[in-house]
Amino acid sequence: MKLPALFALLALSSSVFAAKPNVMVIIADDLGYHDVGFQGSKEIPTPHLDKLAARSLICTNGYVSHPFCSPTRAGIMTGRYQHRFGHENNPAWLPESTSAGLSMNETTFPTLMKTAGYTTGAVGKWHLGAHPQFHPNKRGFDEYFGALGGGHMYFPGAKGGAEYTIPLNRNGTDEPHTKYLTEQFGDEAAAFVGRHANDDKPWMLYLAFNAPHTPLQAPTEWLEKFAAIPQEQRRTYAAMVAAMDAAIGGVLAKLDETKQAENTLIFFVSDNGGPNLAKKSGVNFTNNSPLRGAKGDVFEGGMRVPFLVSWPSKIKPGKYDQPVIALDFLPTALAAADSTAPGNLDGVNLLPFLTGEKTTAPHDTLFFRTGGPGGNNAVRRGNWKLVRLGKAEPELYDLAADIGESKNVAAGHPQVVQELVTAIAEWEKGTIAPTFESPKGGAPKKKKAK
Ligand code: CA
Repeated sequence: MKLPALFALLALSSSVFAAKPNVMVIIADDLGYHDVGFQGSKEIPTPHLDKLAARSLICTNGYVSHPFCSPTRAGIMTGRYQHRFGHENNPAWLPESTSAGLSMNETTFPTLMKTAGYTTGAVGKWHLGAHPQFHPNKRGFDEYFGALGGGHMYFPGAKGGAEYTIPLNRNGTDEPHTKYLTEQFGDEAAAFVGRHANDDKPWMLYLAFNAPHTPLQAPTEWLEKFAAIPQEQRRTYAAMVAAMDAAIGGVLAKLDETKQAENTLIFFVSDNGGPNLAKKSGVNFTNNSPLRGAKGDVFEGGMRVPFLVSWPSKIKPGKYDQPVIALDFLPTALAAADSTAPGNLDGVNLLPFLTGEKTTAPHDTLFFRTGGPGGNNAVRRGNWKLVRLGKAEPELYDLAADIGESKNVAAGHPQVVQELVTAIAEWEKGTIAPTFESPKGGAPKKKKAK
């Protein structure tokens, strides 16, 4: 065969048998809705995330399945409402507890990706149980490096509580904390991307930063860049976001350098909305504008988050406005890997929607609940959003006209209210009470007054 014919055949075969994409899930921790460039922030430049956004669909109605840390991660890891298996609180740091963690009965995202032929790695915050049975290597990840608790001190040797000062962990063995933690996680993730660039298998990487979660600690060189922000905590928070952006930039640069960017499916979200870190003084160090509420709330500010989906070889960049949820990552990744998803998922394969093949909404209804049955519920259907705080009368908002949930229109739409209350009751039949409690002091309030 002549060379040009051979090249033509190779080109044909590579288009027919396109390689499975790599999959990367990047999670920020407690990032404000308005605190990255692609969401409109002028105060905190995030050039690397903005570059990723330019190659992504920006999902303007993108949610996570909980307004705080661990339950959102449990949802991402399973593609199921975490309420179905009692994961509605944050597990305390209890290395002896076999119940405070992601249920051993659940099949995880990386386990399914391994079955689909992937090498799987996790870097960063785990927060899905401290007992050795919950270790990432026991839940489907071939490789792990990070902090196993719900957060960590950022500088080596910094003093703090037990959970936040545990040694870093690599595949079950202690590892030294050598630099600003966000940078160390970024370096590890870039190393993973480089290490597996030429494998004959695709890879999946779960990169979970603990930034910009408290403690508010940032390197001097980043703090200096934000000297114009007068409020000290806001300045430190901004520096933490910028440091995370730079760390993500390092990972993206490695993808480009190794020519993997085109065929890597990337999801980016914050695990919950920005917290109001200074309720007492009335100063909010994060900015969730234009949303109402903050981390812990079932108003939009609790779980509507910056949300990107990037796959340059398949998904055209732009904006996508239908409601989507991080539960969709798992089935979307499995579909991209030509693998069949289990039948018990709540997430859906977004690919036909994001490519424009289907123009309907991926979800009829999305549900949110904190505090167990009888706690705080929210439901999103179309542009309607119903919020029911404990036993209080349900509130109804029209998000198309009122993204800030400022005008309760329940009185004018009793039928919609009734339908959504009924939908919650039906959904709750498939949920159970929480199987473990959040640690004392760290537990979000069960009910919050308006
Ligand atoms: Ca969080």
